Amino acid sequence: MGTPTAPDPMPAPPEALTLQCTLGDAPAAVQWQRRLTDAEFQPILDAEQARRDEILLLADPTQPPPVFGPMPDPSDYTIAVYACAAHGISLDLAARIHQATCTAPAVADLPGCNCSPEPTPEPTPEADRAFSAARPLPDHWVTG
Ligand SMILES: [Zn+2]
Ligand SMILES: [Zn+2]
Repeated sequence: MGTPTAPDPMPAPPEALTLQCTLGDAPAAVQWQRRLTDAEFQPILDAEQARRDEILLLADPTQPPPVFGPMPDPSDYTIAVYACAAHGISLDLAARIHQATCTAPAVADLPGCNCSPEPTPEPTPEADRAFSAARPLPDHWVTG
């Protein structure tokens, strides 16, 4: 009976320190997010399925069967795209999540890209209105 020993501390993976521009010319200076392609998402599904299969396999048959939540959804995942300073897309675009098919950074499209990125999540105006409706400002605060 052995006591499980803690794994040795792992050095940071070298790639984390030497992230390169997607175009491979220089160290990454900026990054943004895009959705996963089907090919990129499939391993996530496979891993989750394997995890569930194993849990079911090891489940005690005298107990109620394990209950799983929904399978991973592509909308829960993004992948980081890296670019050097010369190949970054615009700040506005970098703040948004790009389509899986986005080819940025593609030199011909810079500082834009070839997709319609998802809108930035904004603070909901409805919530703001509800707030001010619930708490009317003092009359002398209203300008104009
Ligand atoms: Zn570059
Ligand atoms: Zn894009």
